[in-house]
Amino acid sequence: MKSDSETKNLIAELAKWSQEDAIAQIWWRDDDLSRPTSELDSILKTADILNFKPLLAVIPNLSSRELAIALETTGLPIAVHGLSHSNYEPAEARKSEFGPSRDLHDIKVDIIQAKKRLSDIFGESVIDCFVPPWNRISEGIIPNLLDFGFSGFSAFGRKSLKVHEPNLKWFNTHIDVIDWRNTRRFIGGDSMTSQITNNLKHQRQTNETSEPFGILTHHLNMIESDWEEFRNIFTILKNSNSVRCVDPLELFH
Ligand SMILES: [Zn+2]
Repeated sequence: MKSDSETKNLIAELAKWSQEDAIAQIWWRDDDLSRPTSELDSILKTADILNFKPLLAVIPNLSSRELAIALETTGLPIAVHGLSHSNYEPAEARKSEFGPSRDLHDIKVDIIQAKKRLSDIFGESVIDCFVPPWNRISEGIIPNLLDFGFSGFSAFGRKSLKVHEPNLKWFNTHIDVIDWRNTRRFIGGDSMTSQITNNLKHQRQTNETSEPFGILTHHLNMIESDWEEFRNIFTILKNSNSVRCVDPLELFH
C-alpha cells in the first residue's frame, strides 16, 4: 500500500520542478527476459496501460523464437543483456560476466556473439545497447563497446567519472525496485515513491535536471499486485506537467 504521506511528498517535489520550469525525464529498463511467462504478461500489460515503453534487456543464450513471437506485436525495443548471464568471478567476489577474471579477447568474442544471436532471433527490435549482467563490467571495457558494435550502454547508479567516451550513449538506471538483499521481491509502493522523490530532489538541488533518470525492474521478481502499485505511481508522474516519460529509442538511437 502506498501511504498518503509519500504521495504528498512526491507531489510537493513535482511542484518545485514546476516552479523552476524544469522537466524530469524518466525512462524504464527491465532485465533478465528470456522466455514468455505470466510475469512477462504483467509487465506488457503495465506498459500498455501506461503507454510507456520499457527497454527489455534480454539474455541472448537463454532466448528463443518463442519469446520473439510473444513480443512480436509489442514494438518494445530489446537490449543485449550479456551473453549467458554467467558468472566468471571467484565465489568471494561480486558476480560479473565481463569482470576482471576474463581477458579482453574472450569478452569481445562473447559480446559480438551476443548481439548476433539476439539479432538472429528478434531482428530489427534489437537496438545497439549493451546492458551488463548484474550491472557490472570492467570499466576499461566500456570504451571498447563501440568497436564491438554498440553505440549505447546502460548499467546502474552514477556513471564512473574515470570513463570518458563521448561517442557512447550512456544512460544508467538509478532506482532498483527489487529488494535483492532480503526478500528478492518488490520494495513496495512507499519505498519506490520515496526513492523517486529523493532522486528528483537530488537532481534539482545539484542542477542535474536535464539528465534522464532510470527505473530498473525485474519482471520475474514481481507479481501483478506490485505492478498495480507501480502503475499507480506512474499515473501520478504522468499526470504531472513536470515529468516526461522517455521512450528508450530516444536515448539510444
Ligand atoms: Zn540480469
